[in-house]
Amino acid sequence: MAGDINANIVPEIPKGYHNWGPDGDKVDLAEQSLLNKLIRRSLVRNRNQVEVLQADPTSPLFSVKTFEELRLQPELLKGVYNMGFNRPSRIQENALPMMLAQPHQNLIAQSQSGTGKTAAFSLAMLSHVNPANKWTQCLCIAPTYELALQIGQVIEQMGKFCPDVELAYAIRGNRMERGIMLKEQIVIGTPGTVLDWCTKYKHIDPKKITLFVLDEADVMIATQGHRDQSIRIYRQLSKNCQMLLFSATFEDSVWKFAEQVIPDPNIIKLKREEETLDTIKQFYVMCRNKEDKFAALCNLYGSLTIAQAMIFCHTRKMAGWLAASLIQEGHQVALLSGEMMVEQRAAAIERFRNGKEKVLVTTNVCSRGIDVEQISLVVNFDLPVDLGGDADNDTYLHRIGRTGRFGRQGFAVSMVDSVHSMDIIKQIETHFKRKIRKLDTNNLEEMEKLMS
Ligand code: ADP
Repeated sequence: MAGDINANIVPEIPKGYHNWGPDGDKVDLAEQSLLNKLIRRSLVRNRNQVEVLQADPTSPLFSVKTFEELRLQPELLKGVYNMGFNRPSRIQENALPMMLAQPHQNLIAQSQSGTGKTAAFSLAMLSHVNPANKWTQCLCIAPTYELALQIGQVIEQMGKFCPDVELAYAIRGNRMERGIMLKEQIVIGTPGTVLDWCTKYKHIDPKKITLFVLDEADVMIATQGHRDQSIRIYRQLSKNCQMLLFSATFEDSVWKFAEQVIPDPNIIKLKREEETLDTIKQFYVMCRNKEDKFAALCNLYGSLTIAQAMIFCHTRKMAGWLAASLIQEGHQVALLSGEMMVEQRAAAIERFRNGKEKVLVTTNVCSRGIDVEQISLVVNFDLPVDLGGDADNDTYLHRIGRTGRFGRQGFAVSMVDSVHSMDIIKQIETHFKRKIRKLDTNNLEEMEKLMS
């Protein structure tokens, strides 16, 4: 059934996964998040406003434009600058003063990946600890082993000049004798192990935790077990503990969970920049079959000066076939496919970003949630459809939004190979109220004119 857009088999979605691809590829939320962390080297640009909802609307709202204003210990400030941070990111401007305020305040913060959440709470934890006290004071939980390690690395790097602050990882495989109390002031781990360390093994006294951070709440609650364990950890903590919760998205379920574990919260939200269609020229090409689509793609590519292109396929098999065909034609191609490990995918994206390969072929499942920007051409080799076979407008926008960024002209070309796919193009046109123009890839002159 792979690739059949009329397939009416709706696969069951297991906990922890957002969606299934046509090959049964899973969209693992934690993997997606890890992938973004692995490929990210700087803040994502975001011009949107920060929304702040205070627990006590009468208290003054502070925001900072410099790290100096936070009056951090000099060692910590040095660590921040040493990471190459010159000034707080948009979310940090508001979140940091709240996180460092005395008396403490609780916070729920939501902003897309890459906006500086991890750096913000790492700073808060490092600033919070009293290094003279040799017990665990800050506890941070993350959904997976790998994500916990990523956060730990940030804390270690930022705290490089704070020699008396120590960090322990409560993750599988880290074992100690029952009853031995940890001396590390900061513990980062996954919910199951953290819960064991607090209750069964008694390495941490939860009543002595004064700052609790729950990261990636949306990923956390996608797994029922993690959700329950997080709540159980929360219940162990003292009422005076400061609580911070972070999430990249904020569906109702995340919100309900957040309210359960964060009493009296301040709320900070950073809206995602609306992807604008105004700088993207959209076209469709009529084709008979996949070979015809391939020929159209080669014509398109041959006649345009294209910096980089991203091509979306419906199935893993199709993506593999297309990548191989393009390589045969002499193109340098990167392929993102469901069976690849996260690290392999990160490496492929990295090479593509660095321009080593000019074309990235991917299935939707692999590319969802990955921020690769600045592409000049997006090709829908297969159109994005939902499980019912209708146009998947969100995915279409997400795909073509990779191009036309920062005021530059971008192009999006969709391959149409049936009456049904033409119908999908019409649905997309209606939804976005934008014309998708027909392109004849055999007519070079017309094509150059349209796409200039
Ligand atoms: P998030 O947790 O929201 O995904 P991160 O804290 O991981 O975001 O930050 C994304 C990237 O931006 C990281 O490479 C991080 O080192 C960097 N970064 C974070 N804060 C700043 C800042 N104030 N200035 C410059 N770079 C920053």
